[in-house]
Amino acid sequence: MKRRTLFLGPPGSGKGTHATRLSREFGIPHVSTGDMLRKHVSQQTELGRRAAELMESGALVPDALVLEMVVERLSRPDASRGWVLDGFPRTMPQAKALDSALEPRGIDLVIVLEAPESEILERITGRRVCPLGHVYHVRTQPPRVEGVCDVDGEELQHRRDDTAGVVTQRVAIYHSETAPLIEHYGGAQVVRRVDGTGDRGDVYRRVAAAFRG
Ligand code: AMP
Repeated sequence: MKRRTLFLGPPGSGKGTHATRLSREFGIPHVSTGDMLRKHVSQQTELGRRAAELMESGALVPDALVLEMVVERLSRPDASRGWVLDGFPRTMPQAKALDSALEPRGIDLVIVLEAPESEILERITGRRVCPLGHVYHVRTQPPRVEGVCDVDGEELQHRRDDTAGVVTQRVAIYHSETAPLIEHYGGAQVVRRVDGTGDRGDVYRRVAAAFRG
């Protein structure tokens, strides 16, 4: 099993959805920097106050702030048996800092979820999320009761950065800052590209097959 796994892929490619399910089925923590940052924003911590405006505009939060948060999270006892990282690293300095933090053992698996831009916009504008990370879509994956999470009964939200205008910016940043990381990990021969289109269950089966290795 590939216990130290991370997801790469443009916004809306399904990273959160499949990382959540992998985490649940294989019993290792799902570490999503987006979820962690949104929690800081809603709790109005110092970090949350610094991140809020950047996140809303689709920009990245400075590396140093995210790094500190991730290193602390990965040092907790439940992360000692592995983790699924989602949304981190997003820049080359973050990837290099993660490499050093993990030495001497590196990443086991990088899953690159691929989805065409034509699908991303439709997925993101229809996306609704629960504060605990469960992901829905108003048309393709609606909750049983409108606006309420099936799993924990929390109220579903439409993320403020899940709008057509902001998504364009987030996709552009993905291509310029994050996609080059595929090459960075490619050298370590741990990269698996997974077709993220089609039925969610089918995509998950492809993801889980890569994870089981
Ligand atoms: P996500 O939920 O992964 O789409 O992240 C939402 C937003 O949080 C991003 O658009 C960034 O503003 C911020 N963010 C999440 N992860 C990172 C990261 N690794 N580095 C910088 N900013 C991040």
